[in-house]
Amino acid sequence: MADLFIRNISLLATPLCANREEIIRRVKKIPRAAILIHDDRIAEVGDEASLSQVIPRNTPTYDAHGMLALPGLVDCHTHPVFVGNRAQEFHQRNAGKSYLEIAAAGGGIQASARQVNAASIEQIVKESLPRFNRSLACGVTTIESKSGYGLEWQGEEKLLLALSEIEKRIPQRLHKTFLIHVLPETRKQDREAFCREAVTEIIPQVASRNLASAIDVFCENGAFTYDEARAFLTAGKDSALQVTVHANQFGHSGGAELAAELQARSADHLEFLDEREIGLLAQAGVVGVILPASVFFLGASPYPPARTMIEHGMRVAIATDMNPGSSMTESLPFCLTCAAVHCRMSPEELLWAVTLDAARALRDDSNIGSLEQGKLADISFWNLPDIESLSYHFGNLRAAAVTVGGRIVYEDCDASRRY
Ligand SMILES: [Zn+2]
Repeated sequence: MADLFIRNISLLATPLCANREEIIRRVKKIPRAAILIHDDRIAEVGDEASLSQVIPRNTPTYDAHGMLALPGLVDCHTHPVFVGNRAQEFHQRNAGKSYLEIAAAGGGIQASARQVNAASIEQIVKESLPRFNRSLACGVTTIESKSGYGLEWQGEEKLLLALSEIEKRIPQRLHKTFLIHVLPETRKQDREAFCREAVTEIIPQVASRNLASAIDVFCENGAFTYDEARAFLTAGKDSALQVTVHANQFGHSGGAELAAELQARSADHLEFLDEREIGLLAQAGVVGVILPASVFFLGASPYPPARTMIEHGMRVAIATDMNPGSSMTESLPFCLTCAAVHCRMSPEELLWAVTLDAARALRDDSNIGSLEQGKLADISFWNLPDIESLSYHFGNLRAAAVTVGGRIVYEDCDASRRY
């Protein structure tokens, strides 16, 4: 691929890998900036006046028209492959039923599973693709996506195959995760055999067929116990899958301890997290992925204690948790607003949380998450004056343009839109 010179950036803002160990997250800001891309990576970042001196003549140029340039956002926790709609359930909850009550009555995840198991791979792909398109329009260049609505193995396999098909049709980078979510209805009498099959057959198969690069488990009352989750994740580790945990969403489930013990790449949710658990996670280098839009949408739990996590030296990433039951949004910028208001995170911390620390949660921070020499040229452009505005203007914020690997893969059709 040829070089590309991106000029006329009013402000470029990025975390730097060198500042990674700092608890007060700093952001490097370059006014009137430019970026030189060579092949799919960043060759130079700097102020336009000096960079213009050194670029070869006739280098193709992209005019950013005074936009703000940030690293492409990383949404490190989503469940976007499913079919159907659970809007009824959203309103039942608002009328007073709890998430766990709806689940116990056969709604919730089991309802999605019935629909997934009845659908073809092509139908799943067709219904899921627009969610990836909306995510891209929100500036997301790397998205982690989980299975988890099949529950039965055939259904999970279908979802992972659908993800592989989607990967071929979208410009974003995709990280696929096998999620063992809850016990399928049909296996209620057969719990032990289900767990044994997972460990001895299914998990090794997911790894050997390269259906996913990571394993996740919902470690919670009503889902899987600490011991069951531990067995799944250990089997995953033995098969060279990366490990992550849905932990401490509705209580102190043991998920956080488990993530620390297994040195998981991340522990996600963490609404119920005390200082002892935070200490364990910090010491083990586990990234805390908070999902504030799901707290907002469920309207019940406390928000995760992000300030205490940051003060204890934990890296905190923010993701959408995009899913039909508890977070029906693709908007990562909206999650930033939630985290600013309810978790009291600063604009710098928020930027880290959806770029370099989110990349760290996927163990891909050597390639993505910042605009630095040698990194992949994944850039999001915004019609915003500064990083403070990224969480300030909420609800309908869209990126103005997006590059993945130096290729322009999205441009807002309404170029005149200014926030
Ligand atoms: Zn989730």
